[in-house]
Amino acid sequence: RVEVHDLTWRPYGRREPVLRGIDLVVPAGQRVLLVGPSGSGKSTLLRALAGVLEVADSGERSGSVDLDGAEPGARAGAVGLVLQEPGAGVVSATIGRDVAFGLENTGMPRAAMPARVAVALAAVHLTMPQDTPTHALSGGEQQRLALAGALALEPSLLLLDEPTAMLDPDNAASVRDVVADVTASRHLTTVVVEHRLGPWVDFADRLVVLDDGGRVVADGDPRQVLAERSESLAAQGIWVPG
Ligand code: ATP
Ligand code: MG
Repeated sequence: RVEVHDLTWRPYGRREPVLRGIDLVVPAGQRVLLVGPSGSGKSTLLRALAGVLEVADSGERSGSVDLDGAEPGARAGAVGLVLQEPGAGVVSATIGRDVAFGLENTGMPRAAMPARVAVALAAVHLTMPQDTPTHALSGGEQQRLALAGALALEPSLLLLDEPTAMLDPDNAASVRDVVADVTASRHLTTVVVEHRLGPWVDFADRLVVLDDGGRVVADGDPRQVLAERSESLAAQGIWVPG
C-alpha cells in the first residue's frame, strides 16, 4: 500500500513546483495508469514513490510518501523501478548478470541468487541462455530484461515509466501482456506511466491524470475518466483509444 499526502516538490533553481499537493492512496495489488502531458511530473512522481527523489534530485519537498508504513527506499528492493529510456537500466554484459546485479545490495545471500534470477527471466519470457550478451537484445527484450531486474527484487511496489514508449506495436503489446501477467500473478501494486493509453486501459484498475502544473486533475475508473476527458487528454498529446 502506498500513501502520498499533499506532496509538493520544487527543484532548487525553479520558481514553480513540479508536483503540487499530490494526494494518492494506492491499496495493495491495485494497478494504476498515470498519464499527463510531457513535463507534468510523471517521472518525478515515480521517483518520489521509489524514494529516490531526495537522492537523484535536489529540491524542496513537503508532504509525505509512505510505502507499507515506511519511507520508500528504507528497505532495499522494496520498490522495482523501470526507467523511461530503454536500455538505461542495463548495466551488465550478460542478461543473467544484469538481473543478479540488482540483487547485490539487497542483502540476499549469493547462493540464493541464481534461482531468483532464473525465475525472473522466465516470468518475462526471456528464455535464451543467461550468458546472452545484453547488447544482443531487441528493444522489447531490453524492456523485459529491465522488468526481470525489478521483479527479481520481489518488490511490494512496481513502477514502470513508459515501458513501451520506444517500441513498435507488436513489441509494446508483448511487454504489456507480460506486465499484466506478472502483476496479476504476484498481486503487485503497480504504477505505469504511458502516453498511448489504448493498450493499457483494460490493464488498469484506475487512471490518474496530472496537468502541466503537476496536480492530479482526474482520478478514477479508466473508462469513466476517459469518457469524461478524452478531448482534453488528446489535446495534451496523450493517445486515447478511439
Ligand atoms: P515526459 O512525459 O516528457 O517524460 P514527465 O511528466 O515525466 O514528462 P518529469 O520528467 O517528471 O515530466 O519532469 C517534470 C518537470 O520537472 C520538467 O519540467 C523537468 O525539467 C523538471 N524537473 C524534473 N526533475 C528535475 C530536477 N531534478 N531539477 C530540475 N528540474 C527538474
Ligand atoms: Mg517522464
